[in-house]
Amino acid sequence: MDASIENDRAAWLEGSSADGSVKCSVVPPERKNPWRLILLGAPGVGKGTQAELLTERLGACHLSTGDVFRAAGKRRDCDQSPAMKAAMQYMRRGELVPDSTVWEMVRERSGCILHCGGFILDGFPRTLAQAESLKALMEKEKISLSAVVNYELPVDEIVRRLSGRRTCENCKSVFHVTERPSKGKGICDRCGGRLYHREDDRPEAITVRLEAYERSTAPLIQFYKNLGLLMPIVAKGSPDEILARTMEKMDKLAAGAA
Ligand code: AMP
Repeated sequence: MDASIENDRAAWLEGSSADGSVKCSVVPPERKNPWRLILLGAPGVGKGTQAELLTERLGACHLSTGDVFRAAGKRRDCDQSPAMKAAMQYMRRGELVPDSTVWEMVRERSGCILHCGGFILDGFPRTLAQAESLKALMEKEKISLSAVVNYELPVDEIVRRLSGRRTCENCKSVFHVTERPSKGKGICDRCGGRLYHREDDRPEAITVRLEAYERSTAPLIQFYKNLGLLMPIVAKGSPDEILARTMEKMDKLAAGAA
């Protein structure tokens, strides 16, 4: 099942231009049964790290809505739409961006969701309205989800992870000051980029984000359970241990589907 790809995710992070000309440097190959996964879990459970590791294993694209907002936030002021500027304000406070803005952004990138290489959605959907929009799009296009992986972790562990998290400003790789330190202090092992402490990983924003999760995102667990798609995974231990736990269940799922 090893299908390593190095995808710059240009089509996802930048969106397609009007003539659809933005192309990823490497496009995942077409697959007969592509993995189409949603990763759920409170901020800090390690969804982003698992999404990266799963991308390497499964070859499907890592589609993170948070990464799209952060990429947009780095653009020049005049290159940002009013909706994107407003989205940045919500993000800085740790609040959820309104569903209409999020869905507009995802809809513009629906090519990534419909792509025959599959996807790993990280940070989307985050509300029932977003989940319903995604479900409608996938039903219309006659594609289905493989599973919804729900990473579970106690709150005190989440706060510890978030406050020590450092992210590469270039390739977005995630490190932790004690659990997953980079080899060079403040420097990304993967690309040599600068590591930074995300504004929304600071204590004030963490509390707001966890409240937003409980209020808006936790109900998705029941939503996907009712659809028979939920795959709970204990998110304790190292990233490799969590990946092994995830892959064990995915292998069973793939064996059942074969
Ligand atoms: P993340 O990197 O997934 O933790 O996202 C960072 C921030 O981006 C969140 O705290 C929200 O402000 C915003 N965001 C990302 N994805 C969504 C989404 N699906 N719905 C609403 N807000 C989002």
